[in-house]
Amino acid sequence: MKKRVFALIISFIILVAALPAYSYNIKDIQLVVNGQNISLNAQPVLINGRILVPARIAVESMGGYLDWYAKEGRIVAKRDNLKLTMYSGGYKAYCGNSTIKMDVPPVLKNGTVMLPIRFIAENFGYPVKYDAVNGRVIVGNGDSSSGNSRGDDRGGNINFSNYKVVIDAGHGGYETGAIVSGVYEKDLNLAIAKKLNTLLKNSGVKTYMTRTTDRRVGLYERSGLANSVNADLFISIHNNTQWQKSIKGSMTLYYPNGVSKNGLNGYKFASIVQKNLNSKLGTDNKGVIQRPNLAVLRTSKMPAVLVEVGYMTNRTELGKLLTDSYKEKAAVVLKDSVLEALKNINK
Ligand SMILES: [Zn+2]
Repeated sequence: MKKRVFALIISFIILVAALPAYSYNIKDIQLVVNGQNISLNAQPVLINGRILVPARIAVESMGGYLDWYAKEGRIVAKRDNLKLTMYSGGYKAYCGNSTIKMDVPPVLKNGTVMLPIRFIAENFGYPVKYDAVNGRVIVGNGDSSSGNSRGDDRGGNINFSNYKVVIDAGHGGYETGAIVSGVYEKDLNLAIAKKLNTLLKNSGVKTYMTRTTDRRVGLYERSGLANSVNADLFISIHNNTQWQKSIKGSMTLYYPNGVSKNGLNGYKFASIVQKNLNSKLGTDNKGVIQRPNLAVLRTSKMPAVLVEVGYMTNRTELGKLLTDSYKEKAAVVLKDSVLEALKNINK
């Protein structure tokens, strides 16, 4: 008997602890995504100071897709290669191999799944602002006419000397990175990085390299340099490995640091790099991938990407990577990508 009472008390405590401290409707809050007013099919909710909005509309307004599995309470938000799995009432989101803590969980309200807007937007690579005066949540560019297209319209007459770019050759010294058939990843990375540095300098860009020799560089030293010179962009160069030797291609990683320079964030920068590697270098598309836990990107205060140029474990791709002409071609593609990204920043 005592046991049952005890169990009852425990389950009551768990129930109470699981409930948000307070939750009420916030009337007339508006959601603006890239300058567009998004009409919501349910009123937003405020929980512990976080605004939650109807999930499907929010995700779709940012160009994503939402799947809702009512039985398991599972919510899957997808955008390009990013997949976020969350659970109604759960404080954890799952993305690839990483778990991201949420300060408020998704909730189900009158049959509508509600998601914390800031969490979703930031993980999709959008900046978020709350305009308290007008009661608006502003995701992406406040003005739909600004951002991406404006940079492109300006064409080639940009003075790139106003821009600073940090080039990071991955690994170095005793941190060799991958070693495949006697080839050290650190050497491939440095060779491409040096070529990129020369090409960008020739275009007028102010460049900084985290290393120019085979030396070990601390993880935080890399983004530390980028932060200290107030760089506009950070690009880290790596090469990949896979136990499955048939896999080849390029992959670009980014960190969702919420930093946006005139609409250019890590995700957009990564997308530009990846698109060009696939179309101009002719590599397989291994995706634009969000990496919330990558130290080299996490501490950077500007759009930052990590490029995996090719797979060293693929015999054909390693063969190419060993030639000077392929490394040069890769560097040209990366240079074009950086310039394209800088045009977006549009100083
Ligand atoms: Zn590496």
